[in-house]
Amino acid sequence: MDNHKSNIFELTKKQVFFFDLDGTIYLGDKLFKGVPELIKALRNRQKHFFFLSNNSSLSTANYLEKLNKFNLNITKENLILSQHPTIEYLKKNKFKKIFLLGTKSLREEFKQEGFELTEQNPQIIVLAFDKELTYDRLVKATHLLLKKDFPYIATHLDNRCPTENGYIPDAGGIAALLYKTVERMPRVFGKPNKEMVLFKLNQLEISPKDAVIFGDRLYTDIKMGKNAGITTCCVLSGEATLDMIKSSENKPDFIINGIWELLNEFNKI
Ligand SMILES: [Mg+2]
Repeated sequence: MDNHKSNIFELTKKQVFFFDLDGTIYLGDKLFKGVPELIKALRNRQKHFFFLSNNSSLSTANYLEKLNKFNLNITKENLILSQHPTIEYLKKNKFKKIFLLGTKSLREEFKQEGFELTEQNPQIIVLAFDKELTYDRLVKATHLLLKKDFPYIATHLDNRCPTENGYIPDAGGIAALLYKTVERMPRVFGKPNKEMVLFKLNQLEISPKDAVIFGDRLYTDIKMGKNAGITTCCVLSGEATLDMIKSSENKPDFIINGIWELLNEFNKI
């Protein structure tokens, strides 16, 4: 097979481990084998580890609840959601009044972070995976976006989201709908934007070469890892297949069947 490697022992020497969630750690409500033991192995060896998701229809609290139902004992510090670098950007650039296209739970998170959510004279539009979107909200957003240079950002732009019943429209679909009227696309913070992992590596003061990402999607997880200069490992337990990897420009450094293979390597030490 091409020039990727499947012997991943050397990855156990990395200091920072980034994991995609859906398709990598679990599929829907089913946790992959070895995950609790893997987390224990990472903790025992004082590795930094983070779980990543673009899905901003869920708040940080929602994610903690979901992960801890699997008894993983994860804290907020182990999570990187696409709203986190987005919120970091908003704070850094002193945006206070926000028109947020987002779910009730995400709006709650933004309010807790100190933002004022409003349709009256907002300073910026933030597009998230709004599963509670109404036509009226789209109209109001459109009126603002037709003003030239009105600030417009998105947590992420996945085209579609996998569910147990098949794909559903994601934030990228909502942005595409708005694009037909306003002819503008937002600036993006989630995967495959490298900021999603680099802001964390900067906080830790650890070089990208000491980090690795495990993920099942070539055009988000693997692409981001390559953009950020970190090692990439594709798991075949989710979306990507060997055929897809062969024809993709986003080739991972390593390919494994699933995350349990990383646990096997730690067990050898
Ligand atoms: Mg995934």
